[in-house]
Order: sequence, then structure tokens, then C-alpha cells
Amino acid sequence: MSLKINAKIVVLGTGGTIAGVRSNPDSPDIYESGRLGIADLMGEVMLGNSSVEFHDVAQIDSKNMGLPIWQSLLRAVSKAQARQDVAAVVITHGTDTLEETAYLLHAFGPWPKPVVMTCAMRPADHPMADGPANLQDALLLAQHAQASGVCVVFNALAHHALHVQKISTDPLTAFSSGFAPLAAEKRHGDWAWLSSPPDSITFQMPTLSGFLGAAQWPRVEWLTHHAGSGSEWVEALLSAPSNTRVRGLVMAGTGAGTFKDAWDAALGKAIGSGVKVWISSRCAWGKPLPQAHQKSGELVDLPPAKACMALALALLARDEERSAL
Ligand code: ASP
Repeated sequence: MSLKINAKIVVLGTGGTIAGVRSNPDSPDIYESGRLGIADLMGEVMLGNSSVEFHDVAQIDSKNMGLPIWQSLLRAVSKAQARQDVAAVVITHGTDTLEETAYLLHAFGPWPKPVVMTCAMRPADHPMADGPANLQDALLLAQHAQASGVCVVFNALAHHALHVQKISTDPLTAFSSGFAPLAAEKRHGDWAWLSSPPDSITFQMPTLSGFLGAAQWPRVEWLTHHAGSGSEWVEALLSAPSNTRVRGLVMAGTGAGTFKDAWDAALGKAIGSGVKVWISSRCAWGKPLPQAHQKSGELVDLPPAKACMALALALLARDEERSAL
């Protein structure tokens, strides 16, 4: 494997289990995310010849991710990307919403230098902590001559940000890219680069400065259809007070994006009142397809978590356009 010589890597910490500490040493699985700073995590890895700079962007459980931290992270990433002396950016993140942040970073790409995210399923003081090895692997991948795009390193595999999903609560198989190709795989101690990053996003995007200056995250909710499910939630959301009103709905339909007639009618009403409705599937993999008796909503080839992010970004882009008029 060829490595970039004297590459400086900027490592940004955001919290998560990788920075978690057990509440009680006798119960390794009960812990608090984001207790340690990135300096503590870096103390556990071997840095080799690379020169590394690290900063804490946040110290949170990623279930609490939202606009202010995404803005700080994007600001830090774009600043690092613009520096001549920086060859790559590595980000530590909680596993629970990593796929949303990964999508966000991908959507603002292509970046001139690789962005490698990593995480852990066991806290830092767990007897079998996986964070140090994942962080070490992320740093190694960040120096790989072929590395590009935004990817997620976990358990000796690197996934493209566009495809990765958390699919399991099992510590070793938490992430998958489904049928999509992996970015890289660790073989005999070295990374083998397997496929180039997928193209950037075709949905409407705000400018980076528009995103960084946004005051509010557009409210997008994700609803799931299942046998026996009622569609009254849609009307309940439409009648919320205007400052908390939903602006976008991602409907995770059954199978190829199917839902009952009552849902079709409720979603049609939502669209009529100005809400953007996107149809995804509750299946882990595969895209929604047109259905004979369904009229409401636009089919979107993204899993629901990423579709929520893409729709919120499209709504921010629309706000930006309107404020420019
Ligand atoms: N709740 C944690 C988080 O997402 C889970 C993890 O990192 O594994 O921050």
C-alpha cells in the first residue's frame, strides 16, 4: 500500500460510544456516550509517521445531533479541507446517527481530500473496546493514496457514506452497505481500496454558506407504514402550531414503498397544504417503485434516515432561494 508522505491529518471529535465511559465498571454495557475528548482517544492510538492535529467539535450522544453541531462540524471540515498542509480529515462520531452525518458530508462534496468517519460499539473503557482499532484504521485509511470521498471505517471495512446504514445492535455487524460496493477492506494489516466514491447528490442543496448561516433545521418527520397502522399521525402533524409545523414527510412504505389508501389520502392532504412528501421503503435495501393505486409523494432512492437529511437540505435550499428574491 502506498501512503501519502508527511500527510497532516485533522481529527475532529463529536462524542459517541467511542468516547463513552461506563457508569459502573461491573456492567460493561451501561455507559454514557461522549464523556471523553478527542485528546483522550488519540492517546490510545499509534500514530506512526503521520502528523495529526485534533479538535473537539462536540461531546455528545449522537442521538442528540442537530443543526448547531452539524454547522460546527461542516465549518471545521471545510476549514481543514482548504489548508495546504492537510491531507485528510478523520471524524469520530456516535454510531446511532452516523449515517445521517455521513450523508450530509457526502452531499456537500466532492471534497478535495478524503473524509474518514469512524465510531465504536463499545465504550472506551470496555474490556473489549473496539474504538482504538477503528480509529487507528481510520487514520491509516486517511493516509492511503487512493482514499477519496467520505467513508466510514468500522470493524476493518470502509463503507461509502452514501450507502452505509446502521443495521444491527450487534457490536461486530453494526454497519452494512447492503448490495453496494465497499470503499475498502483491511487485508493482512493494510487497506485494499475497492471502489471509488459514488457521485455527489442530485437533490437540491443549499450553498455551504447558506447551510452554515441557517437559523433553524426544517422539521422533517419519518413515518413508517405497517400492517394495521393508522394514518391519523399525518393530520396530527399538520395541525401542530406553526413554529413546530412539519415541512417534510418521509414515508417509509412497506416493501417497494406501498401503503394503504387511507395513507394515500392523508399524504395527499399534506401535499395540498404545502408539505413535501417523499416515499422511501422500510426495507433495509432497495428502492421504492411506482404503485398502481398510489398517487401521493415522490419516490426517493434513499433509506429513510438519509432521505430525512436530504429533504431537510432541499428545504433549506428552497429557503435560501426565497430569501435571495
Ligand atoms: N448512542 C451512541 C451514539 O450514537 C451509540 C454509539 O455511538 O454506538 O452516540
